[in-house]
This record gives sequence, C-alpha cells and structure tokens, in this order.
Amino acid sequence: MIYDLIRDEIKGFKNYEVPTIECMYKMDANETPFGLPEATMNNLQEIVKSANVNRYPDPVSLKLRDKLAEYCGTTRENIFVGNGSDEIIHILMNAFVSKNDCVVYPVPSFSMYKVYSQIAGAKNVEVALKDDYSYNVDEIINTINIFNPKMVILCNPNNPTGTTLDRDDIVKILKVNDGITVVDEAYYEFYGDTVVDLIGKFERLIVLRTLSKAYGLAGLRVGYAVSNSDVISCLNMVKSPYNVNSISQAIALSVLEEGRVDEKVDYIKNERKFLQDGLKEIGNLKVYDSKANFLLIEFDDAYYVYNKLLEKGVLVRNFLGDKILSNALRVTIGTREANSYFLKCLKEIL
Ligand code: PMP
Repeated sequence: MIYDLIRDEIKGFKNYEVPTIECMYKMDANETPFGLPEATMNNLQEIVKSANVNRYPDPVSLKLRDKLAEYCGTTRENIFVGNGSDEIIHILMNAFVSKNDCVVYPVPSFSMYKVYSQIAGAKNVEVALKDDYSYNVDEIINTINIFNPKMVILCNPNNPTGTTLDRDDIVKILKVNDGITVVDEAYYEFYGDTVVDLIGKFERLIVLRTLSKAYGLAGLRVGYAVSNSDVISCLNMVKSPYNVNSISQAIALSVLEEGRVDEKVDYIKNERKFLQDGLKEIGNLKVYDSKANFLLIEFDDAYYVYNKLLEKGVLVRNFLGDKILSNALRVTIGTREANSYFLKCLKEIL
C-alpha cells in the first residue's frame, strides 16, 4: 500500500479539504470583499505583458521586495517573498526546525503552524490562550524556559480569535527566547501595531505579513517575511527557485504602487463595529473583541447555526471537532450588504 510508504510524521493527516460550496456570501476565509484597484485593473494587459511569462519569474522578487521594504520602512535585504505566507511558514520550518526540535505556538490559532511543524517532525508545545482568548504571556515564558524551543510562533492579531498581544509582551518573549520568534502579522493593517521596527534589535525575530488580507490579493498568493539579512539568507537557501510567479509579482507591485489601503481598512473596521453592534442586539451571544477583519462568535449549537446559514447562502468558518472552538463560528467582515444579510439570517435562525 502506498500509504505504508508515507513518512511517519504525516501518517495521521487528512486530505486537505475546503468547502466547494457556491454561496451568495463568502464570509469564511478572511478575504476582502474588494476587487483590484481600478488603475491596476485598467492596466492589466500592460502588467501581464511586462511579466514576460515565457521566462521564469525573478527568483528573488527584487522589484516587489523593494516596494515592500519601502512599505515596511526597511531595505530589500530584510524582505523575503513567498507564495503566500503559508509557504513561508513551511520554509521557516525547513530552514530552522529539525526532527524533535520543540515548536511553541498558541491555541486556538492559525492551523498551519501545527501542520507544518508536524511535517517537520517537531515536538509541538501548544500554549492555551486564557478563557477570554487573550494571550497567556506568563505561560508562554514558562514554556520557553522549560522547553528551550527552536521556534516560538505568535499570531498578532490572532486568527481566529482576533485578540492581540502587546508590544511589551512580545519584547518580554523575545528577551527570553533563544530560538526563532515568529510574529505573524497577517492582519496587521486592521490592527495598526507592528514589531517590524524591532528586527534590528532582535536578530532572531521574523515578522510574517501577507497581501492576502487588507491588500485583497489572496488569489495571487503573495506573503512576505521581514527579518535581518542573515535570516533572509537562510530562507533563500531552502526555497524553491521560482516560488512566486511573475504575474503575482507584477500585480502585487502595481497594487502597492497604487498606495495604501487605509480607506478599505477603515471601511472594514467600520463594518466590524456595525456587525458587533448588530450581534449585541440579537443578544445571548458571546462575541469576542477583534482587531482583525473577522469576528469569533460562540453559540449554543454552532453547527446548527452553520448549516442554517449555509441554507440561506452564507458561508462562515466552523471549527467542528476542535476541542476549544467547537461551538464557535468565525465570520469575515464583508460589505454592508453582506453583513446586514448575515445579521438578518442570524435573527431568523436564533
Ligand atoms: N497567517 C495567518 C494568521 C492567517 O490567518 C493566514 C490566512 N488565513 C495566513 C497566515 C496565510 O495567508 P496567505 O498564505 O494567504 O499569505
């Protein structure tokens, strides 16, 4: 049986599955409801032409790195671009984590930390968030002192809870951790706080960002890491040669040249408030305060609500089978139309 030949580390893995459901409102994956900026849209033919798709892409994404460096207030030596930040998490494990090394990350958090560290054969040490889903910083520090991990991953704001970690607490963790500290800032634009400026001070700090969320390029798969140049060299040692395709590089560059996405981010933050207020009116629901583009909501029977929403054409994220979140749903903030419809459906269901 082929299955017998699979590496031991991934023997229990399930096939990757995503809902293939076509629905009116897709509010399950923390994407933005906005399309490409108009100027980029109007210039697509030129952008595609300049991408020279008969040639391999620029293996080190030079132009894009320059632009991202400008955005982050750093230089290109500090930037690594990946095929989504998903790929970068995998590359980080390939570069730094050996079999049986210890990797520490919070739970509940982004599921791919566990997946990639398991693939690496690491020993996973999960540190639970507190009951209100805030970070348990003392526990993280204790865990670091006990396990001396090769890598600590922090997600700020945390997916799927939307809760955050203060800069002072990140610094405390950086000071005790002798291994790599990854701060995943996928939702940075919705939050506004960053530790990118600390990469000069803490050489083992890696900040992860993505253009999939606030910048609306989830389908193009462009993520980036910001760190000191030695770390970036290590990532370059293990990446596949042409990991970011030329169309993605060219469109990402054009979108960044169009300028910041502050207005779109403000729209989403305003809608987040609209949804939070609407949910309060429904009553009897636990809604967590979120600094990202999604809300985590607890129900008496989340799966019932999930299915009823689906019947009405709304897809949200469920956590069926999860020890902590089985009665929670995560809804991505959408347009006013989508958010109003979501609220209307909930009122009908509950
Ligand atoms: N980190 C976090 C915290 C995320 O929520 C996501 C996407 N859901 C990613 C990383 C991966 O993003 P991408 O691969 O699209 O850059």
